[in-house]
Amino acid sequence: MTAATNRTPLDVARVRKDFPILATASRGKPLVFLDTAASSQKPQAVIDALSAFYASGYANIHRGLYQLSAEATRLFEGARIRVQEFIGAADAREIVFVRNATEAINLVAYSWGRQNVGVGDEILISAMEHHANIVPWQMLCEEKGATLRVAPIDDRGQLVPGGIAELLSDRTKLLAITHVSNALGTINPVREIVELAHARGVKVLLDGAQAVPHTSVDVRSIDCDFYAFSGHKLFAPSGIGVLYGKLAHLEAMPPFMGGGEMIASVTFEKTTYAEVPRKFEAGTPDIAGVIGLGAAIDYIEEIGMGRIEVWEAELLEYATRRLEALPQVRLVGTAEHKAAVLSFVVSGVHPHDVGTILDQEGIAVRSGHHCAQPVMDRFGVPATTRASLAFYNTKEDVDALIRGIEKVLEIFG
Ligand code: PLP
Repeated sequence: MTAATNRTPLDVARVRKDFPILATASRGKPLVFLDTAASSQKPQAVIDALSAFYASGYANIHRGLYQLSAEATRLFEGARIRVQEFIGAADAREIVFVRNATEAINLVAYSWGRQNVGVGDEILISAMEHHANIVPWQMLCEEKGATLRVAPIDDRGQLVPGGIAELLSDRTKLLAITHVSNALGTINPVREIVELAHARGVKVLLDGAQAVPHTSVDVRSIDCDFYAFSGHKLFAPSGIGVLYGKLAHLEAMPPFMGGGEMIASVTFEKTTYAEVPRKFEAGTPDIAGVIGLGAAIDYIEEIGMGRIEVWEAELLEYATRRLEALPQVRLVGTAEHKAAVLSFVVSGVHPHDVGTILDQEGIAVRSGHHCAQPVMDRFGVPATTRASLAFYNTKEDVDALIRGIEKVLEIFG
C-alpha cells in the first residue's frame, strides 16, 4: 500500500488487498476475521520480507565474518532501531528482543524482581490483567514472601478512581498494569498512572500487547520503566516480542538466561556478561522474526497510526451501536476510552455455542476467558464471545457479525 498523507482517510478496500488471508474462505464463506486481539493477520510486505530473508539473506548474526552474516546482522540491528523509533525509546539498547509479551514480563519478574523484591514487599496489578501480567508476579511473590495487591475496576471495566493511589504504599515495589485490556478493551490512562506511581517511588511496567497495534506509543513521554509487547499482534510474525526498559534499569539488572551471545568472556572460574541488550538475548534469536517485525512497523507507519486510530474508532462506534441494538446481547466492557474490542454475552446461550455458530458463517471470533479469568469472575460470567477489530476490518464485517448473532438467536430462540 502506498500511503498518501496521514490526513486522507484510510482506504480500507486497498489495505485489505495487502492481507492475502482476508481474500480466503472459511467454511465455504468469505472469511470474516474478528480475532485480531488473539493474533493479527500479516500483510504481504511482512510475508515478502521473511521470504526474501530466507531465500537470499539468511545467516546467523553477530558472529560471522562473511558478508551474508554481516548483512543479516545489519538487518537485525536495523530492526531494533525501527522498534526504538516506533515506541519513542531514547536508545536502541533499551530494546530487548524476546519471544513475546509473556517472556518480556517474565524477564522483568525473574531479573529485576528477584533483585528488587523481598519479604513484605508488594506488587500492585489491576483487576483487568491478562494472565501474563498476573502469574509471573504471583510466582515472584511466592518465592520472595511478597504480596500481590489488585486495584479494582468498576462495572464498565475501568479502574476505580483513587483505587491505585489507595493501594500504593511504601511497601510497593512495582506497579504492573495493562495499557489496553484484551478482555474489555479499556484503555488505561497510563501517563497519569505512571506519574502517580513515580511520586511514591514505585517503578511501572506496562503490558502493551493490546496497545501497540491500535495507538501510538511513546515510552519516553509515558515515562514507564518497562513496556512489553508481542510482534504477532502487531502484524509481525509469531515468536518475536519486545521488552523496553530504561537503560539504567537494564544495566543494573542481572541476566535472565545464560548461554551464548549474552557473555563478554567465559572461563570455568568466571563469566562476564555482554552489554545490554545482548546480556538479555541468550542464544540464537528469532532473526527472521525480528526482520519481519521491522517490516511490519514499516508497513504500519506507511499507513499511519493516526489514520488507523480514526478508522478503528469509527468501526468501534458502529459495532457498539449495532450490538447494543440487540436486546439479548450484553456488552462486557463499556469503558469511556476503549480500543476496538467487543466482549459480549448472548442471553441464554453459552459463548462457545455462539462462537461455533459464527464459525459456520465463516466468522472468526474468540469465545472463552481470554486468559483473563479474574475479569470473567469480576463480571460474573464464565466466558464471553469477543470480536476484536483491526484497521483491515470493515462495517460489512460488523454487519456479518450481527447477522451471525441473529442466527444464533434464531437457533436458540
Ligand atoms: N497481555 C495482553 C493484554 C494480551 O492480550 C496478551 C495476549 O493475548 C498477552 C499479554 C500475552 O501475549 P503473548 O501470548 O503474545 O505473550
